[in-house]
Amino acid sequence: MLRRTKIVATLGPATDSTESLQAIIAAGVDVTRLNFSHGSAEDHIQRARQVREASEALGRYTAILADLQGPKLRIARFADNKVTLKAGQNFVLDAAMDKESGDSERVGIDYEQLIQDVEPGDILVLDDGRIEMEVEAVDDHSIRSRVLIGGPLSNNKGLNKRGGGLSADALTDKDKEDIRTAAQLGADYVAVSFVRTADDLHTARALLKEAGSSAGLVAKIERAELAHDDDALDDVIRASDAVMVARGDLAVEIGDAELVAVQKHIIGRARALNKVVITATQMMESMIENPMPTRAEVSDVANAVMDYTDAVMLSAETAVGDYPREAVEAMVRICMGAEKHPSMRQSKHRIHETMDRIDEAIALSAMYAANHLEGIAAIICLTETGATPLLMSRIKSNLPIFAFSRHHSTQHRVSMYRGVQTVPFNSTDMPHEETNARAVAELTSRGVVKQGDLVIITKGDYADAQGGTNSLKIVRVGPDVR
Ligand code: PGA
Ligand code: MN
Repeated sequence: MLRRTKIVATLGPATDSTESLQAIIAAGVDVTRLNFSHGSAEDHIQRARQVREASEALGRYTAILADLQGPKLRIARFADNKVTLKAGQNFVLDAAMDKESGDSERVGIDYEQLIQDVEPGDILVLDDGRIEMEVEAVDDHSIRSRVLIGGPLSNNKGLNKRGGGLSADALTDKDKEDIRTAAQLGADYVAVSFVRTADDLHTARALLKEAGSSAGLVAKIERAELAHDDDALDDVIRASDAVMVARGDLAVEIGDAELVAVQKHIIGRARALNKVVITATQMMESMIENPMPTRAEVSDVANAVMDYTDAVMLSAETAVGDYPREAVEAMVRICMGAEKHPSMRQSKHRIHETMDRIDEAIALSAMYAANHLEGIAAIICLTETGATPLLMSRIKSNLPIFAFSRHHSTQHRVSMYRGVQTVPFNSTDMPHEETNARAVAELTSRGVVKQGDLVIITKGDYADAQGGTNSLKIVRVGPDVR
């Protein structure tokens, strides 16, 4: 069986050697994530080059996801780099003080707008939820709070408000600069952090286009406003190509109690709207330091697979962890185990709906045949942009969908789609009547199908037209395929 759920791995110092990068790609990474919250433009350009080289050496198509930092609020720095806060004490966030000289009573903040966005009674959450404080008083340059949950706090840690409502724009000046870097390094996807509205994505898309890139846009869902407003969430999903359940910041904003239900809701909406979805953050957290996941982590990854996410993501586990390869191997194992469950191939997608696109009708018909006709071994989809395999992979099935394409960009793009594998194939190069036989021969030579198996083939009348898929054929593997 081929694994269907895709694996996104964040790159960092732990994957910078050629051996380590090749090891994680060989172990099963489909998408590499460049985290623009850390490192310079040169670091990202260098890593992207290494990904292309390693993938080529391994005969793999690995997508590159450039993840923009966004308006992540952060405290400034402490004179001694770190302090310890005690529950019950007062602590001041001070926009006017020196950014380098925080102590256990006060620290600077980078974002002065914060002062207008908070009022007494608000709960501020620092360092991904490790520290909590309640705002007691606000003046024109500082916020005084009482610490509710104390602990160690070090330089530049993140800051969120419980319940959301911080007004920072999703695209900072740094993000706009980083969009140009992402275009330059040939990113296949660009992720926008702290998205609030569809407009954030329209702006990002315009900037990307201006920089010469047609990368797919990933909307990171990490603001309480979207988790609590179904219409706003749908608007954002429609404006994106993929979404990320960005559980790190999302859980801080909405609290952990609702997180699992919100994850299921976001995954369901993304798939219903024909978009791709990544489930991210703290999936294998303990593997930063241990070669084995905890049972709870195993269960979390399997749950996301059973929610029918397209991809699961590793963050620090691969970027800075001690066991990057083992973390990928563990994810591969758990994904494949969860995919065996019978519910993973029963689809009710759109069974009662009408549609207006021919390629969608073909895609859904193909999946219906695949799931209901005995003897189908694979689906071949001749595709320019990857639109048809995307539509197909919104339907639950255990049959592999092969995106046959002549474009590297399409091959990278589809590597994020659940259940979709890619095969380089240029049908504009061959006589029309030989296309099907040659496509089937590709799968035979890969050992995916054998004599007598049935294969579904979809394509358009014109090999180079986009969105033109209008035919579905079922052939039996053997000498007579036409
Ligand atoms: P981040 O995004 O790691 O860039 O913050 C993911 C998340 O918030 O879960
Ligand atoms: Mn985040």
